[in-house]
Amino acid sequence: MRLSNLTATALVAAVSAAPTTPLPYIRRATTASERLGLTWLGGNSSLPKILILYTGGTIASGSIYGALDDTQYGQLQINGEQIIARNPYLLNNTQLAVSNWTTEEDGSTGTNDALVMNMTRFAHDALCSEDSDIVGAVYTHGTNSLEETAFLMDSLVNCGKPIVAAGAMRPWTHLSFDGDANFFDAVMLAASPEARNRGLLVAFNSRIIPGYWATKLHSTNPNAFGATATGDLGLFLNNLPIFYNSASQPLFKHYFDISSVSAYPSYPALPKVDILYAAREFDGKLVLDAQANGAKGVVIAGTGNGGVPTGQEEIAEALQSGLQVVVGTRSPFGPSSPNKTPTYAKSGFVHVIQARIMLQLAIASGMNMNQTIDLFEGGLRKAMGQPWSPGL
Ligand code: ASP
Repeated sequence: MRLSNLTATALVAAVSAAPTTPLPYIRRATTASERLGLTWLGGNSSLPKILILYTGGTIASGSIYGALDDTQYGQLQINGEQIIARNPYLLNNTQLAVSNWTTEEDGSTGTNDALVMNMTRFAHDALCSEDSDIVGAVYTHGTNSLEETAFLMDSLVNCGKPIVAAGAMRPWTHLSFDGDANFFDAVMLAASPEARNRGLLVAFNSRIIPGYWATKLHSTNPNAFGATATGDLGLFLNNLPIFYNSASQPLFKHYFDISSVSAYPSYPALPKVDILYAAREFDGKLVLDAQANGAKGVVIAGTGNGGVPTGQEEIAEALQSGLQVVVGTRSPFGPSSPNKTPTYAKSGFVHVIQARIMLQLAIASGMNMNQTIDLFEGGLRKAMGQPWSPGL
C-alpha cells in the first residue's frame, strides 16, 4: 500500500516534532540462551532447558556393514538434532538446544585441547553466567577420551549445575544401540534437581559414575566405565536417576579459575604435557626428549605406588631446566603417594590420564613445580600427617 502525499507529509511533521529525549522504555535483559544464539527444541517453555554439547564418537556413528558391526563402523553419521528426533520421550520432559563441537575427524581422535577448552568455556558461560536460563548440560563424546573431557570440565565449571557425559559403545546401526538409552539417561540426569552439586557425572549403561573418578575399563563392552576410587553414585530405574547418597564432592578435588587459565597468554589451548609409561629399564632420556619436543610437563605412569625404576638423573636434569614432572601409578586402583622430600609431584589418587589434564591446568594457571607439588599432594599429605612446606 502506498501512502498518499498528504499522509506522508503529516508523518514527517509528526516525526520532526517528536521530543529529542528518548521515550522511556523497558529494556528486556537478555538471557544466556539469547546471547549464545541457542534454539530450543520442544516448544513447552515450562520444561527445564538442557544444553546438548555435541561432539562425535560412536554415539554419532553408524556402519555400512550392517547391524552386527560394532568394530568397523564410522562411515555414517547422525547429528545432534537427529539423535534427539530418535526418542520422543526427550522433548516430553525437557527443552533441548544443540551446540555442535564436531570436527572433521569425528570421535575421540578428532578432539584436541583447543576444542575441549573452547567447549568448556562455552559450557561455563552458558551455565554459570548471571543471565543463565539453563538448568544443566549433556556432552556427547567418543568414549575413548570421554574421561579426559570429564576431568577438564569438572575442574573448571563449578556453579552447582550438572554437566553429564553421554556416549555409546555400539553404533546406531547396531541391533542394540546403547546410545539412545545412555543419551536419554544423561538428559534426565542433567534435568534432575538431585544432580546438583555433585560435580560432573557420567551416565553410562544405567549407572551414574562420578566424572572425577571415571575411567574406561573395557574397550568394547557396553558396560565400559567405572570409578577408580569410590563406586557408582546411583543408577537409573525406568530411565530415571536414583542416587544412593546425598550430594558430596571428592575431598582433594581442585577447582581452577577458568578466567586465569583462559587468560594465560602463551597457551590459547593448554600447554603440552606428555604421558610416559614406566616399566623395567625405563629410559629417562624419554623425559628429556619430551622436553626437547616442546613439553612443559611430563606425567609418568609409575610402577606400583608411583615408583620410577630408572632415569632419576635425567628427571633431575629436566626439572632443573623447568620441566614439571608428576608421577602417578600404572596400577588401576590406589594412590601414588607422596615422597618424604619431593622434587616432583606424586599424583595421589588422580590417575595418569587425569593427572595430565591437572598438570596442564596447573601450568596454564602459572603454578611452579613446588606449587604443583602442593596442588597434587597437599590434601593427602595433611591427611597422612606428613606436611611439607617448601616456601611456595
Ligand atoms: N572410537 C570411538 C571414540 O571416538 C569410541 C567411542 O566413541 O565409543 O572414542
